Amino acid sequence: MNNIAYYNGKESLLEDMMIPATDRGYYFGDGVYDATVVRHHKLFALDEHLDRFWRSMDAVIITPDFTKDELATLLNRLSSKVSNETYMVYWQVTRGSGERHHSFPKDAKPNLFVTITPMTVTREAQTRDFRIQTEEDIRSYMAHVKTLNLLPNVLSAQRAAEAGVDETVYYRICADGSTRVTEGSHTNVHMIKDGKLVTAPTDKLILPGIARVHLLQAARDLGMPVEERAFTKEELLTADEVFITSSLLFAGRVVSIDGQAAGQKAGELFIPLRERLIDEWFEETK
Ligand code: PLP
Repeated sequence: MNNIAYYNGKESLLEDMMIPATDRGYYFGDGVYDATVVRHHKLFALDEHLDRFWRSMDAVIITPDFTKDELATLLNRLSSKVSNETYMVYWQVTRGSGERHHSFPKDAKPNLFVTITPMTVTREAQTRDFRIQTEEDIRSYMAHVKTLNLLPNVLSAQRAAEAGVDETVYYRICADGSTRVTEGSHTNVHMIKDGKLVTAPTDKLILPGIARVHLLQAARDLGMPVEERAFTKEELLTADEVFITSSLLFAGRVVSIDGQAAGQKAGELFIPLRERLIDEWFEETK
């Protein structure tokens, strides 16, 4: 089997899966999701993704009718049915189904949807360079919750694609006119300045990325000081090294920002960090 979809107990190929139109995920994006990569049927950092998924459900008041162990068992079972080496494992829960009213339906029963789809993970693919553009962050103060409501991110990713770059990185304009870099449309963003790894703090303006946690651990393991603090777009533009992370791309070096060369020392301290992340992933999923 080359892919698999699951919806409330039904299993089929993704292209054959039918979802009822009354699912509130369809009307409102009323749900949350998470995703990781599986290799050799081993899901990377599953416990961390499940913990975040539970925090996301809690934040939007969705009460699951399954336990963490039951979901882990389901994801592992579905992942064991596919035959290629590496897959993306995606799961989402919506509040339930019902007529279209904004307030919650009475006695809503959550809808659980899972997909396992082929994905290439190689050292070569994980070491490519990235070009980014920047945009003002006009998203809500719920960026820490992994909700299905990704329209601003989708539009930013599309503008990046149309501009011929790989990712849009957001900055907010503060009351005093200064800027604050938050994150990418589907990545976290970091910089190295004077030998220190600098990354935005995990408040309501960014998604607390799982790859970010592994990156900070890798930096500490390599003896690199870590600063979790707000930083400006100007600091990003003049940083020694700039990079983005996510569970799917791991860590990608940024070589240009808004058409200007970025990260004057691109690679010096970043490459050992990236190697450590890639080695960890291949080791955990061997
Ligand atoms: N920020 C946003 C907005 C994202 O959508 C993602 C991943 O999808 C990330 C950051 C990175 O998170 P993770 O490292 O858990 O994949």
